[in-house]
Amino acid sequence: MARGIIQHELNHALGFLHENSRSDRDNYITVNYRNVKPGMENNFDIQDGTTLDLPYDYSSVMHYDKFAFTINPNLPTISTIPNPNVQVGQRDGLSVLDVEKINKLYNCDVSSRLFNTPSGRFSSANYPNSYPDNMNYVFLIRTPDGQVALTFNDFDLQSSPECTSDYIRIYDGPSRRAPILLNNTCGPAQIPTVIGSTNQMLMEFVSDGAISSKGFSASYNTGKDQENGGKIYVLVLHYNNVYLIIKR
Ligand SMILES: [Zn+2]
Repeated sequence: MARGIIQHELNHALGFLHENSRSDRDNYITVNYRNVKPGMENNFDIQDGTTLDLPYDYSSVMHYDKFAFTINPNLPTISTIPNPNVQVGQRDGLSVLDVEKINKLYNCDVSSRLFNTPSGRFSSANYPNSYPDNMNYVFLIRTPDGQVALTFNDFDLQSSPECTSDYIRIYDGPSRRAPILLNNTCGPAQIPTVIGSTNQMLMEFVSDGAISSKGFSASYNTGKDQENGGKIYVLVLHYNNVYLIIKR
C-alpha cells in the first residue's frame, strides 16, 4: 500500500507504460538480458507509445529498479548509460516529469501540490521574485486531523478590478465544489488567518498572461481553539470587497 506503488498502478490505468519500455530507452539504459530470469525477458520489451516529447526520466515512478526480474540480487538487469551510477526505480511518488506527462497527455494546465503534514510552509513559484504568467496552480492542504489554519506571512499579487487577473481563492474543503472561504483576492494585502471547518482546504492561485508580482508566502497548521474547548466560532467580515468567513 505504499504511495509510490499506488501511484505507479494508477499511472498504468491512466495509460502510461514503464519508462524503461520507451522507444528511445536504449539511449539511456542497457538491459542485461543474461541476468534476467528465464521466461521474464518480455518484461523488458520496448512498447509502442509516445514519449510526449518529454525527456527520459530515470526518476520516474514508472521506471523499473536495476535488479527487476534478476536471477541474482547482485546482478543488475538494468544499467544506466553513459553514467552507470544513476539511481532508478524509486517508489516514493510521482516525479516532476511524471506530473508533466500526465498534464500533457490530458491537456491539463493545472499544477498541484498536496500538503499532508500537521503544519508546513509554502510560497508561490519564484518567491520573492515574480511568479510566472498563465499559471493555474492548486494547493491542497490535508492535515491529519483538526481544522486547517492558513496564514499569509506576505502577500502581493497583481491588482485588478474584482481581482479577475491574478488572484487566489480558498475553499472550505478539498474541491472547487466546497464553499468559498476567501473569494478572489489580489494586490498587496494583509489577510487575516483563514481557518477552515475541516482538515482540508483547497487554494487556487491563478495568474493571467501579463504583469506579475512578488506572490505570497504562507504557513499552515492545525487550528485548535483550546480556550473555547475546541468549539468553533464563525465570524463573517466584509473584506476587500469579498466576504471572508473566519472561524475560531
Ligand atoms: Zn508497472
